[in-house]
Amino acid sequence: MHTGSCLCGGVRFAVEDELQPIQLCYCAECRKAQGGPVASNIPVDAGAFRLLTGTDLLREFESSPGKQRVFCSRCGSPVFSRLTSRPEVLRIRAGLLEQPLPVRPSRHAFVADKANWWTIPEDGLPRFPQRPT
Ligand SMILES: [Zn+2]
Ligand SMILES: [Zn+2]
Repeated sequence: MHTGSCLCGGVRFAVEDELQPIQLCYCAECRKAQGGPVASNIPVDAGAFRLLTGTDLLREFESSPGKQRVFCSRCGSPVFSRLTSRPEVLRIRAGLLEQPLPVRPSRHAFVADKANWWTIPEDGLPRFPQRPT
């Protein structure tokens, strides 16, 4: 089992499943939501996600139609995102997980939107200009 928490520690969660590979996203929305060049997301089955504390702290922002970004209202940490059309998948932010991870990034998405000051490492992973196909 893997556990994660936000910056203030008010939101704590567990993932009761094997982790999927990390998906890196360089879109402009993720850039602003994270305050950095890339979002590092892990898709998790909603049934395997357990919110341990902080239900009252979570807030949602609909950054584009049908896409909710869920964050801690006390410290601002992004926690996960969810599509209204796919409520069974939560895309948790890998940086919140507390243990060393057994998974690694698997792809770079929306690289056409990447900030011009950031260089993607030559890691051999697939790169998608927009949404991965
Ligand atoms: Zn917090
Ligand atoms: Zn994105």
